[in-house]
Amino acid sequence: MPLLSIPLTRAARIVGALALAAISGACAISQQQEIQMGQQYAAQIDTQLPIVRDAAVSNYVTTLGNSLAAVTDTRGLAWHFTVVDSKEVNAFAVPGGWVYVNRGLIERAQTMDQLAGVMGHEIGHVTLRHTVQQMQQQQKTDGGLVALCTLTKVCDSGAGQAAINVGGSALFASFSRQDEAQADDEGVKTTVKAGIDPHGIPEMFRILLSERQTNPTAVDAFFATHPLEESRITSTTAQIAAYPASQLRGLRVDSDAFQQMKRRLRSLPPSPAPKAVAK
Ligand SMILES: [Zn+2]
Repeated sequence: MPLLSIPLTRAARIVGALALAAISGACAISQQQEIQMGQQYAAQIDTQLPIVRDAAVSNYVTTLGNSLAAVTDTRGLAWHFTVVDSKEVNAFAVPGGWVYVNRGLIERAQTMDQLAGVMGHEIGHVTLRHTVQQMQQQQKTDGGLVALCTLTKVCDSGAGQAAINVGGSALFASFSRQDEAQADDEGVKTTVKAGIDPHGIPEMFRILLSERQTNPTAVDAFFATHPLEESRITSTTAQIAAYPASQLRGLRVDSDAFQQMKRRLRSLPPSPAPKAVAK
């Protein structure tokens, strides 16, 4: 889901590109640049999006996220997991290891494996460097502009700020269907490796698709950044079916800790109303 796994908005990219138009040549985005960019995004997100600061909730999500990242990250990233205090359904990741899950998505997850599946998917966008690759591709297609060699400048730009004001979702260009399929694939592998039932992934997709029928505005942001169709349910279900039964046996579906965390979330004051923002 897109989330901020995030590609920059087009506006931010263009501003950055113009600022650096004089520079030519191609450059690859290093891991250090990726982390710097993530830090800047995260700092902006933390000040501009409402964050659930409750220790019990954030500790739970951090522990779950770290247990997933630990079985798939081969680059030694420092991961950060944050709950956005929004009733809208969304999740996103920022390059370098920052993953955000909206309170509204956690509220709709019925069992632990459904939340773990979404987080595994977002972690996949980061480990596969989807956003970074989009940026590198952008450099090539922009006729030699190398805006993204100095990513942090892009993040400093006014356009970047404005984009985040839109509530996080507009911040990122949508992922391609191929990126989504890859992140789904990673989500399945990662949950299995972490000892969690991967069926939570297609189950969560079903919940979101059915919510789109009944309450479309709540899931708009998610669908805007994460193309989601029946085909993703079919393909993740097929991927899971290809595992030997012995590997799927005994995987965790739910936990008391997850249900406790959900109760805790329900006891907190309601999410703030979304800020009116200029489009
Ligand atoms: Zn995605």
